[in-house]
Amino acid sequence: MHNFLPTFENLQQRKLPVRNTCRLCEASADTIDHLVFSCPVSLGLLDSVGLPPAPTSQQLNFAENFATWFMQVSKKQQTLIVITYWALWYTRNAIVHDDSTCSTVKVSTFILAFHLELDSLADVSDPTLKVKDVKWFLPDGDSLSVIKKLNSDIPDKSVISPIISDTKEASKNFELLTFSYVGRKGNEPAHELAKIGLQYREPRYWIEEASASVDLAQRERPP
Ligand SMILES: [Zn+2]
Repeated sequence: MHNFLPTFENLQQRKLPVRNTCRLCEASADTIDHLVFSCPVSLGLLDSVGLPPAPTSQQLNFAENFATWFMQVSKKQQTLIVITYWALWYTRNAIVHDDSTCSTVKVSTFILAFHLELDSLADVSDPTLKVKDVKWFLPDGDSLSVIKKLNSDIPDKSVISPIISDTKEASKNFELLTFSYVGRKGNEPAHELAKIGLQYREPRYWIEEASASVDLAQRERPP
C-alpha cells in the first residue's frame, strides 16, 4: 500500500498547480487519509452499505491503519470495502474530470448490487467440482510455445513463467486436462475476435452478443 494515488495533495507535492480540496466534501485537503478515513461523503457511503468506520490510530500511518482495519473485518466486509473504495475513487474521478455530481444513494446501490452479483457468481464456481474431460484449444500466435511449456515437466524460466505455473496449478482441479495446439484455421471465431481486439488500444469486454463477424466465423465452422 503505497501512497501513489493522484490525490490533489500528491499532485501539489509534485509541484502541479492544482486546487488541493477534496471534491467530494469540498471541506478538507484531498489526501488519501482524508478520502478513506474521514471524508464525510466516504463515511456516509460506508454507513449506507452497512460498513462501520475504520478505527484509526494516530501512531500508525495510512497503510498500517488500513491493514489493521482490513484484517479485523469479516471476509464479506473485506469484499465490500474493496468495492466501496473502488466505486468511491471512480466517483471522485468522475467529479474531477467530467464535472459529474455524487449521489451517495446511487453509488451505494451500485456497490450493493455489485457485491450481490459477485456473491452469486461465487456460488456457481464451486472449486470442488471436478470436470471430467476438458479439451482446451488455444488460438494462434505464440501459442505453440505456450502449449509446449504447459506440457513440459521442466520448470519454465521465461517471462510468462508465472502464467504457466498458475495454469498448471489450476489444472490440478481437473481429473483430466489436455493442452493441444490448434492452428489459426482451426479456430476462426477466436482468430476473428483477436483481430477485432487488435483495433483497440484499450481493453474491451465482451458482455453479451459477439460481433457479427465472430458470429459468422462460428456458424461457418466445420462440425
Ligand atoms: Zn472529503
